[in-house]
Amino acid sequence: MRTTFLPFSKPSISEAEIEAVAEVLRSGWITTGPKAAEFEEAFKAYCNAEGAVALCSGTAGMHLLLAAMGIGPGDEVITPSMTWVSTVNLITLAGATPVFADIERETLLVSAETVEPLITERTRLIIPVHFAGAAVDMDPLRQLSSAKNIPLVEDAAHAVGTQYRGERIGRRGTAIFSFHPIKNMTCGEGGMFCSDDPGLIEHIRRLKFHGLAKDAYDRNTQGRSPQAEVQEPGFKYNLTDMAAVLALGQLRRLDEFNRKRALLAHRYRELLANIDEIMPLAVPSYPMRHAWHLFVVRLDTKRVGMDRETFMAELKKRNIGTGIHFKAVHRQKYYHETLQLPEGALPNTEWNSDRIFSLPLFPDMTLNDVDEVVAAIKEVIA
Ligand SMILES: *Cc1c(COP(=O)(O)O)cnc(C)c1O
Repeated sequence: MRTTFLPFSKPSISEAEIEAVAEVLRSGWITTGPKAAEFEEAFKAYCNAEGAVALCSGTAGMHLLLAAMGIGPGDEVITPSMTWVSTVNLITLAGATPVFADIERETLLVSAETVEPLITERTRLIIPVHFAGAAVDMDPLRQLSSAKNIPLVEDAAHAVGTQYRGERIGRRGTAIFSFHPIKNMTCGEGGMFCSDDPGLIEHIRRLKFHGLAKDAYDRNTQGRSPQAEVQEPGFKYNLTDMAAVLALGQLRRLDEFNRKRALLAHRYRELLANIDEIMPLAVPSYPMRHAWHLFVVRLDTKRVGMDRETFMAELKKRNIGTGIHFKAVHRQKYYHETLQLPEGALPNTEWNSDRIFSLPLFPDMTLNDVDEVVAAIKEVIA
């Protein structure tokens, strides 16, 4: 048995990154400034995106998007229930109605087939989620979006570095990324809004900082821009330079991180292939590069004769950390009570919500760690 605890996720922070943050702290300018601008440029280049705005979280990006689109009471927004609660919370707080699309049972991804029947004359927006680092099949969704004239915005919190048909997520359309500590790259808290719509980028840039036409930092005066005027009421969602300099370092190592994640994931897939009680997700067959944000498995509770929570507790006793990504949003207390969706309304979402959990996966793990996780799983099953 392992003698040290293996968490399900852990950020990889280098000494050079720590030093770079310390330099910003010593520089005299710690909030949004040259480093945030440099990070936006670097991220834009990485994704080959047309425009990018750095933000203090992915949630902030989604909030600004809904505000920019003027989404409110009477509007419907289609998104999966198998996701993190942040997007659904914002739709609800805006006074609009979240409409949940079911997912494919083996990939946890929404598709044009699950989204199309939900479209009504009130539908204002479709938000697919690239789950666990796999890309949603975007082409049919893009066709649907243009045929029905309903915008599409990708929740790309799990998809930094993911490619779909040879293009990075963020290259086309509008995508929102997150740099929370469990994500593929991190700066503590942070996010990025990418879009190929220059008007939308301008609007998001303004809304993220009080509705001012300019950021606080002015390159010429190296201080606050004195002439900035409020164009409309805005929020306070900018990314600090302390965080941006860390994000810059992480972005440089992102491909290396993701290669390591893929290596570990392949080992898991190999070792778990003949354990019938544990069912990893399927990898979509269309051309895609997986970012392996999470390694999600489903437990066959009947076969093991143990519920998921007990199984996870048994792994924890053996020093293996796990997580649940996610409990379906419509089963969270508030949404269960307010939306009152009947049992079976979203069969694939519910089936997975009862069975999924995530195994440890992060770049500083070793192949030996994977072997130990699988050995612990075998022991619990036996
Ligand atoms: C993490 C996450 C978000 C929110 O990102 P934050 O940066 O934490 O605000 C949104 N959607 C999904 C699917 C996520 O996993």
